[in-house]
Amino acid sequence: MTIRSDILVAGAGAAGLTTAIALAGSGFSVTVAGGLDIRRNGRTVALFEASLRLYRSLGLWERLEPLSNPLRRIRLIDDTNNLFRIPPVELEAAEIGLPAFGANIENAALVEALAVIARETPGVTLIDGMLVDYVTHEDEIDGRLLSTGERLAASLLVGADGRGSQVRAYADVGPREWRYKQTAITALLRHEKPHRSTSTEFHTRSGPCTLVPMKPDPSAPDGLRNRSSLVWLMSPEEAERRMALSDAELAVEIENQVHSLHGRMALEGPRGAFPMSGLACDSLVAERIALVADAGHFYPPIGAQGLNLGLRDVAQLVDSLGEYGRTDPGSRKALTDYDKRRRGDVALRTLSVDAMNRSLLIHALPVDFIRSAGLAAMASIGPLRRALMREGVAPPGRLPRLMRDARPEAASQT
Ligand SMILES: Cc1cc2nc3c(=O)[nH]c(=O)nc-3n(C[C@H](O)[C@H](O)[C@H](O)COP(=O)(O)OP(=O)(O)OC[C@H]3O[C@@H](n4cnc5c(N)ncnc54)[C@H](O)[C@@H]3O)c2cc1C
Repeated sequence: MTIRSDILVAGAGAAGLTTAIALAGSGFSVTVAGGLDIRRNGRTVALFEASLRLYRSLGLWERLEPLSNPLRRIRLIDDTNNLFRIPPVELEAAEIGLPAFGANIENAALVEALAVIARETPGVTLIDGMLVDYVTHEDEIDGRLLSTGERLAASLLVGADGRGSQVRAYADVGPREWRYKQTAITALLRHEKPHRSTSTEFHTRSGPCTLVPMKPDPSAPDGLRNRSSLVWLMSPEEAERRMALSDAELAVEIENQVHSLHGRMALEGPRGAFPMSGLACDSLVAERIALVADAGHFYPPIGAQGLNLGLRDVAQLVDSLGEYGRTDPGSRKALTDYDKRRRGDVALRTLSVDAMNRSLLIHALPVDFIRSAGLAAMASIGPLRRALMREGVAPPGRLPRLMRDARPEAASQT
């Protein structure tokens, strides 16, 4: 038996579920199939203003917001001990007229909430299972559900199946993958002192070590109510050593690394270790196929851009299909428009994150000078600082429709 819909989405992570909900909201019937991954691995995602606007426009933010903590300030600290060391740079969302840059949410909690919403959304069918064996026909494309052997067919296949995307492999879009000699350790932390909704990024010689504010837990014992998530990039050897430490030993190493910024720390739940790599493709589309988010591009978690970039893909796909794909969502015209409008943004982010990461890893005076001069300019030149802040959270220029409106209400400070 073949199950047919307008659009088939492979992958039920944050990007795939958001794609399904958003496209169903535009009137398409959507089947989304994927292994639901809601394992707790200490990983959170910082979602910036443009992503929050997408969720506000779709009417989802009021369901997601209670799971998140606002990001009102970002502090960058040069911890490389280089000759041109500069004082910490602190950026305030209020400087660009926003109550917060965005919000931090546990990845598993986000996926779990989106799966519940997808099941309630008219026009979306969510199937918990993996897709394999894609075949493209003249006016449709199909894949086989591994568990039952059923075929799922649609006019358009959206590959949202993450870093190891099988849709990308089938689409043959010229992927180039590279590796960094770095692993990111992630963990949720409880700590003594409040974080003031400030994300703090220490730039170290092995990569950034970032503490991102999470929602406090008022029911926890005194001294452990404040919570943050950790993304700490280091050499694979150091990561292996640290992953073998007890929770108490690792907490001490983290506290030392962040110079006791938040006082005493304890780990909450399991940790994760992610080898760092990057990927770019010649194109985000092929015949009757569009790739979104990590299926089409990824890079290390510096400046928290990954899913934010992926959600811009999703919002643009909604626009391109709305304009050119009403009768045939897999039409060449709709897909060409999508690819053309996403190319520049994806290339710019991939290059800038790569350059920032490598500038920390290379121990050379000229590189240290350029990086330090960049941070110093950001600290002292107001218009430059504000332009960079806007670029990071809601890039000006042509944002997709679902990210243009739904601005936040007046600032409330915590
Ligand atoms: C340590 C770390 C920290 C990060 N922090 C941030 C941050 O702060 N902000 C930010 O914006 N981004 C961040 N990112 C990036 C962000 O996590 C990713 O961009 C995002 O999770 C990608 O979502 P996705 O849905 O594309 O992929 P995934 O989350 O990988 O989901 C893919 C889904 O597809 C499923 N799947 C795989 N194969 C198949 C198949 N054959 N058939 C069906 N389903 C399949 C998988 O089971 C999975 O559920 C971070 C990444 C890391 C590693």
